[in-house]
This record gives sequence, structure tokens and C-alpha cells, in this order.
Amino acid sequence: MNAPQLDKTSGYGTAGASERDTFSIQGHDLRGEQEVESSFSWNNDDSAPKVLEELVGLAEQARASDIHLKMTGADARLRFRLDGVMTPAHVLPPGLSERLFGRIKYLARLRTYQDSIPQDGRIDRTALGAANDLRISTYPTVTGEKVVLRLFSPEHILTLDDLGYSDDVVDVIRRFIKRTSGMLLLTGPAGSGKTTTIYACLKELGTEAERHIITIEDPVERVIPEIMQTEVNPAAGMTYAKAARHLLRQDPQVLVLGEIRDEETANLAVRTALTGHLVISTLHAGSCRGVLERMLVMCEDTHAVLTSLGLILNQRLARVFCGHCRGDGCPECINTGFKGRKPLTEWLFIDEQKRERLHKEGVEVAHPQSPLEQVGERLCDQEVTNKHEISRVLSQ
Ligand SMILES: [Zn+2]
Repeated sequence: MNAPQLDKTSGYGTAGASERDTFSIQGHDLRGEQEVESSFSWNNDDSAPKVLEELVGLAEQARASDIHLKMTGADARLRFRLDGVMTPAHVLPPGLSERLFGRIKYLARLRTYQDSIPQDGRIDRTALGAANDLRISTYPTVTGEKVVLRLFSPEHILTLDDLGYSDDVVDVIRRFIKRTSGMLLLTGPAGSGKTTTIYACLKELGTEAERHIITIEDPVERVIPEIMQTEVNPAAGMTYAKAARHLLRQDPQVLVLGEIRDEETANLAVRTALTGHLVISTLHAGSCRGVLERMLVMCEDTHAVLTSLGLILNQRLARVFCGHCRGDGCPECINTGFKGRKPLTEWLFIDEQKRERLHKEGVEVAHPQSPLEQVGERLCDQEVTNKHEISRVLSQ
């Protein structure tokens, strides 16, 4: 087994952060979730369009994945999600907060006067001179409206080699997606990089012109021109299972389902994988064995489940020390000591031998390779991250 590649900054996080003015927050300790003072110097005289542009620019500079703005009475609290962790950044004064919320909703084509119902929209990067597009979500809270701006770059898709995986993980995934049938299931908590991994697989598969690839997503986050991408639409009755049944008539060789969360979808995925299709999906479970257990609960045909399932990946993302300060905290990492993330991945490859044992002895023999705890320990030994961070992600 190869050691993880440590010289690479993980590809997880926001892609395409632009080179803006230096992101300067004065030397306060942001470790944990403490409130901090910062050098954001907006005040009530600033125009909302200018503040929004600067705000998004700062978020990109810091490689934040999301910007959270929450009204708390008259003022608004600003937090960034950095490498998966919420980081307080600033408090915006009352008048400016209101105008900023209005500006965001205006650009996202939402009803600006409406703050008592949730709304969803989108802002194109060109409207802000930003590197990323923004997905906007508003929600009323007891202290006022909450707005989350998610940064994403639709064209920017990382390859399997960019994700910071160790060589053995890349090998096992590559080997599996070359197959013409069978199922790959990814698991891990929200924000553990499952979708990013699937896109990396699709990017690789998309270059093989001879394969017809169809996805059903919720929603489509990145566009890959070579493949056919669709979205579920539960309001119109277009669920994963219903969409899949229709799309199978479009003759796919690879079918990607955003998530398996009910019996109907689970059974359909198994049947599809058994009838000459490669199926890739995700499922909520804390472990490889948990995935097997859930699939066996949702599908009556144990034999079919064990025959179709070829590979299960269970993933977490751990923050790694900032390359500039090695964990001490510096302006580069907004004094968190961390910058970038690295996947911890364990996997269960179900070959003939394993399949037979699972049949005879049950899921108890589903021991993953390269267990998460072991990978975490190794990263600590190599001083890439610390024990506190590893136990944080392993308890998710
Ligand atoms: Zn640093």
C-alpha cells in the first residue's frame, strides 16, 4: 500500500478563488468558533453593491465555500464556512445589513420585500466580477432573515488525481469505473466530498466518448458537456426512481443517481447494475458495513445486492495545516492554522471471494481496507494535521 501523498494541497474547498487584495484579518485567534474582531471596515456610508462585491471577493480569497449572513435584530452576523468549519468574520451595521440583503435578493431575482418565506435563487459571477457563481438561499429565523450564499464554479471540475487521495484509493476507483456493470456507492456525512468525487469520476468517464453517461442529480452542481445531466423535480413528481425508469430507455451505460434514500430507488439501482450498467450513487450510512446493512434492509433480494455491489467508499475530510505557518496561524489561513482538506477514505472492494464470505457469514465480515482511524493516525504522525481535527471528523 502506498503512503498518502502529502505534498499536495487537497482539492476540496472552493474552486477558482481569485487573486484579490490581500485578505487581512488582524491577528486574533479564530480557532474553534470564537467570536472575533476583524478588519472588515464597512460602514453605513458604503454602497450595498460595493460591499457585496468586496464580500464575495474576500470569501473567494479565503477559499470559503459559503457565506452566511444572519440578521440578529437590526445588525447582521457574517460568517464564512472555511474548509467545512463555520468561522465568524464580522458584524454588519443595521442600515447596511438591510441594504445588503436587498441587493442580494435583487440580483438573485427574489422578491426583495419578502422576508417571511424561504426563497432560492442564483447570481451569475459576472454580476459581481467574481470567480464563482452564487447559489442563494434565504430563510426566516426568529431573529430575522438568514441568507446563505454558496460559491461554486460550474466549469471547474477536479480530476481524481487532484483530490488529495492516496494512490491506492485512486487505483481502486479507477479500476472499478472501467467496468461495464456493477455498483459503486459512496457514503460519509454531508460535506465529506462525495459529490466532488463523483464529478471527478464523471470527468474521467466523460473523456471516453464511447460510453453514454446519464446523471440524475439534486441539483446539477457542475456541468460536464460530454454527458447527459438531469435533475429530480419532486414537485412535478419526478423522483430519482421515476426519472431513472424513464432514463433507462435513453440507453445509458453509466447511470449516476445523486442519492439512494428509499426502497424503490435502491431496488432499481440494484437491477440496473445487474443488467449491464455501471451505477454510481451515494447513501447515508456511517461506514462501509452500514451501507451494506441499509441496502439489505431496503432490498429483499440479498443475492442481487451482493452481486451488484462492487465497491463502497466511506469518506471524511480532515483539515490540514496551513502551508505558510504549519498550524500556528497566519493571515493566509485567517489564523485558523488550517488551509485545505484531505480525504480520509476507507473502502470495501467486493470480489468473488468477499461476496461468498458475505453470503455465508453475513455483514460482520465487511471489514474495510485502510480504516479511517488508521489513516487519521498516519496523517498525525506525518504532522499534516492534529489529533483534535481527526477526532472531530471521525465523530461526524
Ligand atoms: Zn497559516
